[in-house]
Amino acid sequence: MIYEGVVYRPPSEAGSWILQATIGCSHNRCTFCNMYKDKSFRIRSVQELEDEIHKVRELYPDIRRVFIADGDALMIRTEDLKYLLSEIRASFHKLERIGIYASPKSIHSKTDDELISLYEAGLGIAYLGLESGDPEILLRVRKGDTREGIISAGKRLKASGIKLSITAISGLGGKERWREHALMTASAVNEIRPHYLGLLTLMVEQGTELWTSVQEGSFQLLTPDEAARETLSLLQELDCDGLVFRSNHASNYVALKGTLNMDRDKLISQLKRAIEDEGFKDESFRRL
Ligand code: SF4
Repeated sequence: MIYEGVVYRPPSEAGSWILQATIGCSHNRCTFCNMYKDKSFRIRSVQELEDEIHKVRELYPDIRRVFIADGDALMIRTEDLKYLLSEIRASFHKLERIGIYASPKSIHSKTDDELISLYEAGLGIAYLGLESGDPEILLRVRKGDTREGIISAGKRLKASGIKLSITAISGLGGKERWREHALMTASAVNEIRPHYLGLLTLMVEQGTELWTSVQEGSFQLLTPDEAARETLSLLQELDCDGLVFRSNHASNYVALKGTLNMDRDKLISQLKRAIEDEGFKDESFRRL
């Protein structure tokens, strides 16, 4: 298996074989993100990837899940991606799911029919970063698309049949915009109606633009208590039956998981207990 630089994958793809079909992220400008700063975006050749699939097939024929990375692998041309999906499906007979990282830009680059054809070719799930539903925050963090653009991308992807997992980042509005962040992220999720919502908590990495803003004092991080209150507001506003909610990543101060709307009261009680008596994960145990 050939990996270039650090390879990232969603927590739920921990057991998957990662096929690094693209290198880096085609956007690579978000102010909070350090994942692919050392990489220039490029797409590996189909031949190279096909050879790798065949080599891995010899070594690990029982692979059940495959995740296609790097940051924005849905940028691969539809015909090439369909070919790779068919090779993966033909190679691993116990295969249960193929996942991919998507971005608003890569979804917009495909027609509805192309997205449907990818679903039919075996693409099971795509992970899309909403980060925030607040237009002002999206602008400030240089997400590269508007609230409307990301909502439309999410809805189109979901309509194709591909399962959609959305990520948002608690604390991304800082002290200044936590209310807008909570309320507008909830309303964006309510509109998209994804299958999964993963809520991470902001950790500012050295070398990012956001790090500089924190050092200069123009961005003020939330305390654990403020982050919990922000999540409380988000949960109170979410109205999305069947949404699988996960906020149990290493970055989160309180581990929460449940299915909305039925588990909303339980999740809110859990958060309130953390705020009132139980406290939060120690900063030294948080990880990205
Ligand atoms: S689109 Fe995603 S991977 Fe690319 S820079 Fe932004 S957060 Fe990082």
